[in-house]
Amino acid sequence: MANSLSSYLGRLAPSPTGLLHLGHARTFWVAHQRAQAAGGRLLLRNDDLDSIRIRSDFVAAMLDDLRWLGLTWAKPMITQSERLPRYRAALVQLHAAGLIFPCAHSRRELAEASVSAPHEGANLDEPLYPPAFRPALGAPLPPLDAAGWGTNWRFRVSDGELLTFADGYFGTQEATAGRDFGDFLVWRKDGVPSYQLACAVDDAELAITEVVRGADLIKSTFRQLLLIRALGHEVPAYHHCPLVLDERGERLAKRADALALRTLRAQGVTPAELLARF
Ligand code: GLU
Repeated sequence: MANSLSSYLGRLAPSPTGLLHLGHARTFWVAHQRAQAAGGRLLLRNDDLDSIRIRSDFVAAMLDDLRWLGLTWAKPMITQSERLPRYRAALVQLHAAGLIFPCAHSRRELAEASVSAPHEGANLDEPLYPPAFRPALGAPLPPLDAAGWGTNWRFRVSDGELLTFADGYFGTQEATAGRDFGDFLVWRKDGVPSYQLACAVDDAELAITEVVRGADLIKSTFRQLLLIRALGHEVPAYHHCPLVLDERGERLAKRADALALRTLRAQGVTPAELLARF
């Protein structure tokens, strides 16, 4: 990658929970192109916190597929499971600021109590956290002791707060806290941060200047903006890529591995042919 004074720093952030497919290839290719065009650098982040679903052979496969595509990145690879002290420090900071609260409700209780009819115009990626389950504003928080680290913690959003960001591809994006998304998980009782917290901490602390990823994460961006701001960091630029759909208009992530890069490689498709499809 170009060795220049450009301050552009991007990242590729695959999760080793499955094989990379055509959609990943497109997004990562765009990320690579944008870093190169800016004369900047790209990091590779292994999002391996989902201990139930990750597999080490998927880590090896994703590295191999990315190299096959011709992508390059700055070493060393960042591995989220090695960064737990960073995420803990962030949770301590959010706790000290009174921005989170513990939630002992089961998934089932949450599902039963969540608002069944979303507000008009809301486009939810998960049910809104039931306001009735929120502790009173300013109620003292249990400490982050041994029991505290084994608790689910949620970030408390400010209902009605309008959030916006200028997306590099889709233009101005807006969401209203408490309507388009509610209080969200930042820490899981199994002792690891949620994707939202880990991603926000990494993008902020590694000083990523532009996040390039799939459009399915636009909703997550609003949550991450809140976290990055609460942690006192600069917010990166965002460029979301349209999702690659199959011939039936289905998201590729929902399919079995028919369009996995592995499968296409085995069929003799070359990286150049693949990239020409985009
Ligand atoms: N690892 C996440 C995923 O594969 C992407 C995270 C991101 O780019 O922020 O969905």
